[in-house]
Amino acid sequence: SRQFTRPLNELANQFNTLLSAVAGAERVFEILDEQEEKDSESSRKIDYIEGEIEFTDVSFSYDQEGQEQTIKHISFRVKPGETLALVGPTGAGKTTIINLLARFYETSSGEILIDGMDIQTIQRNNLRSHMGFVLQDAYLFQGTIRENIRYGKLDASDKEVEEAAKIANAHSFIMKLPNQYDTLLKQDGSGISQGQRQLLSIARAMLSNPSLLILDEATSNIDTITEMKIQEALFRLMEGRTSVVIAHRLNTIQNADQILVLDQGKLIEKGTHTSLLEQRGFYYDLFHSQIHEGVGS
Ligand code: ADP
Repeated sequence: SRQFTRPLNELANQFNTLLSAVAGAERVFEILDEQEEKDSESSRKIDYIEGEIEFTDVSFSYDQEGQEQTIKHISFRVKPGETLALVGPTGAGKTTIINLLARFYETSSGEILIDGMDIQTIQRNNLRSHMGFVLQDAYLFQGTIRENIRYGKLDASDKEVEEAAKIANAHSFIMKLPNQYDTLLKQDGSGISQGQRQLLSIARAMLSNPSLLILDEATSNIDTITEMKIQEALFRLMEGRTSVVIAHRLNTIQNADQILVLDQGKLIEKGTHTSLLEQRGFYYDLFHSQIHEGVGS
């Protein structure tokens, strides 16, 4: 229903944002209108997750007939607390992997496990409540800065909100705004920069304290100083959490425990930055061709 445009339940709007990154805003409403995401009666709620992720031979197709496989026989495992970077050219399937992990779509075959549990047995909202999203286009709604951060944990005190903003390097720019934490944001986020929006979404994720982080690094329109603030804030946010990152920044990629190199839906290489460079394969070429703009797009 159209009510999804308001902050109805905890994370609904972030899902819209993620979907819109893939499908365009109009499609989002179609999807949410048509399939009101029903959980099966037997699905359960999990109180706490460690954050282990496993894909076992996962394939997926956006079209029902399954003619065109977008994800082809992908397997990998991420231990709790590790960082997994997804790299590869546009259209390789990086966003789709995240869509599957958060159950915006279901796999066509194969299983996705979190802490050894098939995610299809977990209620969607419960599954997503363990995930924090920091996406290229931070989702902000019309309301104050404080309300926008508090969206990560609805019962957070003002002090908690400010603590999260400090850790996220957002506090100092907020204090320079005319009404500080009470500054009203417009729905389109105009009035603050893209980088500042990212800092707010990092603060929000920090407050929600998830075991799993899903990051889609922004690529453009961010000045160097804000960029450094974002990097530092992300580093703090990722500490002790399992992170899946659509990575564009060299920093993230070099520090990742594991890099998956995707091309046309296939997992073509897997390793660390160093081991992949040593292989002198696809990653090596990608790295050397795109070294100035980041690896992948
Ligand atoms: P990446 O994030 O690596 O750029 P995506 O996962 O977004 O790649 O896309 C993988 C492929 O799936 C592309 O060919 C893209 O056009 C297609 N695709 C993505 N989203 C949809 C969708 N909602 N419906 C149909 N095809 C899609």
